[in-house]
Amino acid sequence: MKSIERVLNKKVDHKALKESFMDACSNKDFKDFIKTIPAKEDVLINYTSSLEDASCEYKNCKDCKGLTNCKNSVKGYLLTPEVKGDSISFSYNACKYLNDKLEKDAYKKNIELFEMSKEMMDASLKDIYKDAKRIPILKYFQEFTKKYGREDVKGLYLHGSFGSGKTYLVAALFNEMAKKGIKSVICYYPEFLRSLKASFNEDFEERFNTLKKVDLLLLDDIGAENCSNWNRDEILGPILQYRMEEHLPTFFTSNLNLSELEKNLAITTSGVDKVKARRIIERIKQLTDVLELVSKNRRD
Ligand code: ADP
Ligand code: MG
Repeated sequence: MKSIERVLNKKVDHKALKESFMDACSNKDFKDFIKTIPAKEDVLINYTSSLEDASCEYKNCKDCKGLTNCKNSVKGYLLTPEVKGDSISFSYNACKYLNDKLEKDAYKKNIELFEMSKEMMDASLKDIYKDAKRIPILKYFQEFTKKYGREDVKGLYLHGSFGSGKTYLVAALFNEMAKKGIKSVICYYPEFLRSLKASFNEDFEERFNTLKKVDLLLLDDIGAENCSNWNRDEILGPILQYRMEEHLPTFFTSNLNLSELEKNLAITTSGVDKVKARRIIERIKQLTDVLELVSKNRRD
């Protein structure tokens, strides 16, 4: 008796399903949409409501001009049916605009920022002002890109006035290299030291090792930190030593030239030590070519 009831119910359900499917088909967009799905009507009628949602999202996408105008329920995604035998499953797939964006931004996974603003990940060599002051730097970048991976290449000690675009330039180079799969860290050095001290018992070792070993490193704004024996002799010294031995290109930006930086490094909270400061400067000189960028302050 029970099984007869079931069969009857199923028949009724089937009729109701078919009716609501036919109802939905009175909408031309829906009708056109289901023509693209390789399934028989008997299968489709079980999914009318989801297919209506998917059809609606499909239409939104067809008329869409870009991600900011997305009308779908999950921004950048569209509900998509997939036929599997006698059933249909639905999943949210990235739309073409989101896919383009994901592809365009894929290089960003190769760059790690330590205490830096994210805007530097969008710095691009294409957009760099190509004025006379930047020509030697851009030439250096060209050489660097050509030689990297083929022979030893030095990093850059780029010093000059505040806001002239030093960090932006090196970030643009790193972004270019990231597109080729080269990993880098852009580290705002003064703040990094503060946070490194604070994280002493947590991820200190990991952060310290990342700076030592990453393919390309920028120590940004060196000389602006409060110099202590600890950060000069236990942090900076070993990082530079390791990178020198392993031939890992290392970049610096600073408001100070090398002799000003040397004076800065000599005076710590514990006294004056010219020899240790000299040793750091020697390492920087071995690791880098030195260029200057004095230009108007771009932050105004
Ligand atoms: P610095 O490191 O020399 O103090 P930044 O690299 O931080 O200067 O640049 C200062 C500001 O100018 C930043 O907001 C940066 O995004 C912008 N900027 C610098 N150079 C360029 C450039 N070539 N194109 C676009 N914006 C730039
Ligand atoms: Mg800077």
